[in-house]
Amino acid sequence: MTPPARVLMGPGPSDVSPRVLEALSRPTVGHLDPYFLRLLDETQSMLREVFGTKNSLTLPISATGSAGMETCFVNLLEAGDRALICRHGVFGGRMAEVARRCGAEVAVVDAPWGRAIDPDDVARIANGGTFKVLALVHAETSTGVLQDLSPFRAIADSCGALLVVDAVTSLGGVAVDVDRMGIDAVYSGTQKCLSCPPGLSPVSFSERAQRVLENRKTPVQSWYFDLTLIGRYFGTERVYHHTAPVNMIYALHESLRLVLEEGLDARYRRHRDHARALWAGLERIGIALPVESSVRLPPLTLARIPTGADDHEVRARLLDEHGLEIGGGLGEFAGKAWRIGLMGASSTPRHIELCLGALEEALG
Ligand SMILES: *Cc1c(COP(=O)(O)O)cnc(C)c1O
Repeated sequence: MTPPARVLMGPGPSDVSPRVLEALSRPTVGHLDPYFLRLLDETQSMLREVFGTKNSLTLPISATGSAGMETCFVNLLEAGDRALICRHGVFGGRMAEVARRCGAEVAVVDAPWGRAIDPDDVARIANGGTFKVLALVHAETSTGVLQDLSPFRAIADSCGALLVVDAVTSLGGVAVDVDRMGIDAVYSGTQKCLSCPPGLSPVSFSERAQRVLENRKTPVQSWYFDLTLIGRYFGTERVYHHTAPVNMIYALHESLRLVLEEGLDARYRRHRDHARALWAGLERIGIALPVESSVRLPPLTLARIPTGADDHEVRARLLDEHGLEIGGGLGEFAGKAWRIGLMGASSTPRHIELCLGALEEALG
């Protein structure tokens, strides 16, 4: 097995630092070994810092980002509950689907692809209604839109809802500020701005969300993602639920150390500055950016495929000639746009230079 050394500038996974890869290869210990439990405590405490929360229930779910999504909905929703879901791309649509499968009655607020959700549209439906959950995606990886979360706590309060946020592509690249934004349940993934391999989904539940969980009328329908059970392993009791993926937690621990060594503000600034440089460079070589600059997402840029260029051919050339991966379009943007990631270790001037040079060459 000799995987090629790629440069990962798609929608995730992003490049993984050698320090994180090395952490993965350290000796496996037992998931109840005192050494490992100490490491878990440190991991959870670093996660709280990066999420911007004091929530006790903050832990990595043993599966990818979608499992974090599933965890939030299966724990908070019961059959017949009402959920208000914002959809401005693939991942908002996936949230609605997961909520429906929990037996919830789902109302959806849409925004056109490539635009942010208009809080007034959400407020109109929320107002006077009762919802168990109001959910939205912070960083829509399918469209490259960054959603301003600040109006949504008040809207959730107006309809008695818990505020649930998808921070898969924002955590570690854009401030999520869970406590300041009044978010009740949030989930992320390791392979985007945390620059760790895919395989874990950090989640965090507020006190209010924990109370809703404790007062459920029915048991959580998923045994594996039941936080009342998982929380007993990640809490003080250390009761076995499933075997923690020990080496992946080494990797997450190391990637969080890298985030905090750099400093959160410096890291967010780096993502912002490099994104601006990429945007300017793309426009210079005649590639249009369909998302309005005020809501553009620094870790992931949507770039319109120029007329006459063949989507698959260009991406195949980047991969073959430069070992460079960028993403194709999803949904309404399939075949019409590329998705270029500048996430975590992949957000450097060298990545930008390589990508612009390779694109210019391929298009020429
Ligand atoms: C990648 C992504 C997910 C899904 O994560 P997986 O790790 O692929 O399961 C969910 N939401 C957003 C916004 C994402 O970018």
